[in-house]
Amino acid sequence: MAQLIETPNTVAFDQLLCAACDAAKLAYPTEAAAIGRGLAIALADGVVLFSDGHANVKSDTVVDLWYTVNGTCTCKSFQFSPGGRCKHRWAKALVKHAHTNSLPTRHEPEYFATYYPVDGSMCDGRAIHTPGGWRFTPNDGAEPLYVSEQALCLGGGGGIYKKQLKEDGSLVEKVCQRALVSWHLTVTRDDGTQFTLGYETKDKTEIMAEYWQGRGYHVQQYQQ
Ligand SMILES: [Zn+2]
Repeated sequence: MAQLIETPNTVAFDQLLCAACDAAKLAYPTEAAAIGRGLAIALADGVVLFSDGHANVKSDTVVDLWYTVNGTCTCKSFQFSPGGRCKHRWAKALVKHAHTNSLPTRHEPEYFATYYPVDGSMCDGRAIHTPGGWRFTPNDGAEPLYVSEQALCLGGGGGIYKKQLKEDGSLVEKVCQRALVSWHLTVTRDDGTQFTLGYETKDKTEIMAEYWQGRGYHVQQYQQ
């Protein structure tokens, strides 16, 4: 099952997480400590949801340790927590709750989009604007995640996207660039490998050039 390397919460989504935390503490005042630790894990992008309903939740004490949460938790404190509600299960619950409170309004259009995590990879899917920020649903079946606008390239509407998806998988080149994009950035990593991003406007191109330069990449911009 595919997993995205990074799930950078948006500021708006973080606010929804904090609100979910407050509500949980009101409902379970004796578990406020575990709920608070769950919030910290969720705010630090320590929850990865999967389409089959399970989640991987990061340990906040051991580096690179992830627990599997699906009604139960694989951590040691699960069996000692009231009702089995350890901090990892709270972390997952807060993220799910924030998702529920971040449904898009009925009139928001859905866009074909490509998401660029900071590791330089890319992921095709669909994006829609919600109260929690841009919600991106990957094509590979992973759960939606909230991504910053700077890491998102919006392409054509859903109709174009579906038609193109049938024809081939190279959506960025075939739809995004052909239909709307006239500005390009070529980003070169330290190891010499490159990837190209496309944008509709010069302004956004410059913002994104700064973003990648700030991460230490070499960037070249040009107009088609
Ligand atoms: Zn746990």
